Amino acid sequence: MSQGSNFVDYVKICCRSGKGGAGSAHLHRDIRTAMGGPDGGDGGRGGHIILRGNTQYWTLLHLKYRKHIMAKDGEPGSSSLSSGKFGKDEILDVPLGTIAKDAETGEVLFEITEDGETKILTAGGRGGLGNYHFKTPTLQTPRFAQPGEPGKEQWVVLELKVLADVGLVGFPNAGKSTLLSVVSAAKPEIADYPFTTLVPNLGIVDYRGGKSFVMADIPGIIEGASSGKGLGYRFLRHIERNSVLLFMVPADTNRSINEEYEILKKELELYNPELMQKPHVLAVTKSDMLDDELMEEMKKDLPTHLPTIFISAVAQKNITELKDLLWKAINE
Ligand code: GDP
Ligand code: MG
Repeated sequence: MSQGSNFVDYVKICCRSGKGGAGSAHLHRDIRTAMGGPDGGDGGRGGHIILRGNTQYWTLLHLKYRKHIMAKDGEPGSSSLSSGKFGKDEILDVPLGTIAKDAETGEVLFEITEDGETKILTAGGRGGLGNYHFKTPTLQTPRFAQPGEPGKEQWVVLELKVLADVGLVGFPNAGKSTLLSVVSAAKPEIADYPFTTLVPNLGIVDYRGGKSFVMADIPGIIEGASSGKGLGYRFLRHIERNSVLLFMVPADTNRSINEEYEILKKELELYNPELMQKPHVLAVTKSDMLDDELMEEMKKDLPTHLPTIFISAVAQKNITELKDLLWKAINE
């Protein structure tokens, strides 16, 4: 994670659910009854720690400094068979695509994929049963009740898989960050050297008629990324779910456009062949550096089985047309 970044896609938290309230061992009494039967109510369940999908969140930043999450204990049962109150659940809102894992074993517990979806991360302890449950013909006045179940404490890792509509795929310096900054309100860092983008940046791209889609600038994938070398591997997981891949090849590449597209494709395929099933769009970036003649030459050598376009983020050339292509690919 680069310093000062507010894109947080990984947090480790300690969760402690509430203890169940104790069952009551109360014996009924009133004006006429000095020592009546058991009427102790059940203890309330301890609070759960719950994850809830919320489309208003894009990162796990809000959980970064909340290392310890605790839910409330359940209240004990009491006389007249009244049950104790449940301990208050602790509900954590998370972005869609959040995966919960057991921090010790790495086991995936579940994934949150829908808005409003809730799943119990750490279950609260059950409340103890009141003494009336233990009444039998031979034991009319049980003077005991069940204690509440203790809460659970566990370390959990939350990981975010970015769910974007468009993932930008290109080598460092292809112009990914620049494009994102031009088409959306996101302001990623831009610099003239590789590996500027150490973390994915998300941007919401406004489209005609009040529509929008999400674009993710994924850190430059580099050759060998699929085998875990370099930075690529860790970040490639963010594009697994993107519905459209926008391949970006700079006009000044020292390979041919076609060749560079093939290399990028090969990297992705080695990582996950399913990525080849997604719609691909190819943009030749920095085309402000080309004169018309050169552009015509290059057009002859472009792959023909996918939509291609020459763009310039800096000169704002063909940006609307690019959005059109992407929108079409997303909705096909
Ligand atoms: P990334 O590594 O793919 O995110 O690439 P950046 O967006 O950081 O851009 C790398 C370099 O290319 C920067 O120096 C940008 O100013 C430059 N660049 C990006 N887009 C354009 C463009 O449309 N035209 C020109 N001439 N330069 C560009
Ligand atoms: Mg970048």
